[in-house]
Amino acid sequence: MREIDQLFRLQEINNKISNLSKGKTNLIDTLISKKDDIFRLENDFKMLEIERLGLKKELDKLVLEAQCLDNKLKNEEKKIAIIRNPKEYESLMNNINVVKEKFDDLETKELELMEKIEDNTNLLDNLLEQKTKDFDGLREYSERCKADIENMDSEVIDLKDEKDDLVEKISNSSLANYEKLFNQNGCGVAVVGIEGICGNCSLNIIASKKRTISTGSNQLVKCSNCERYLYWIGPIDE
Ligand SMILES: [Zn+2]
Repeated sequence: MREIDQLFRLQEINNKISNLSKGKTNLIDTLISKKDDIFRLENDFKMLEIERLGLKKELDKLVLEAQCLDNKLKNEEKKIAIIRNPKEYESLMNNINVVKEKFDDLETKELELMEKIEDNTNLLDNLLEQKTKDFDGLREYSERCKADIENMDSEVIDLKDEKDDLVEKISNSSLANYEKLFNQNGCGVAVVGIEGICGNCSLNIIASKKRTISTGSNQLVKCSNCERYLYWIGPIDE
């Protein structure tokens, strides 16, 4: 393997490692945001449960009030038997009507509350369904993520081993130069195809340099503009 091949491979490895690390970060970020979504759902669920408890308490209170009114009404109605004159009759009927009106109001409120409870129960049912689905989805997703991350980690280990071997073989000065350039913009070795253009800065490579790299020479050739090592990817001229 020529030094330029080693440098090119080193760059490939560096890019792969950095892509794998980005991929891993993305996976973890997505996993965290999915967990946050479920946490929010869980909170909504709890709030609705609390709301339902409140509504039910209110309803119980109304039912009790209604019972009291009903008793009162019955008592008033019993008084009809002991009425002595029309004036008493009129006043009793007034009392009865007042109680009946209150009773009607209570019934309307009861109906409203029952509707609210029904809405709340429907929401809770929907959320529960959604929660179960999301939990299942998350479990599947995290298992897939775990497997993907394990694969990525083992790929990175292999790449790093290969990189260590390569680094041993490359001369110190070429390696230092490559690393300085690679750290600038992720390119220490620029590809050149048959058009003879530097893959990093798009300069037209002069004919003599193009000839040298296209014959598969062992010599390291640099772009005269951006100083990147030039790596020929066209057909080799014999
Ligand atoms: Zn260049």
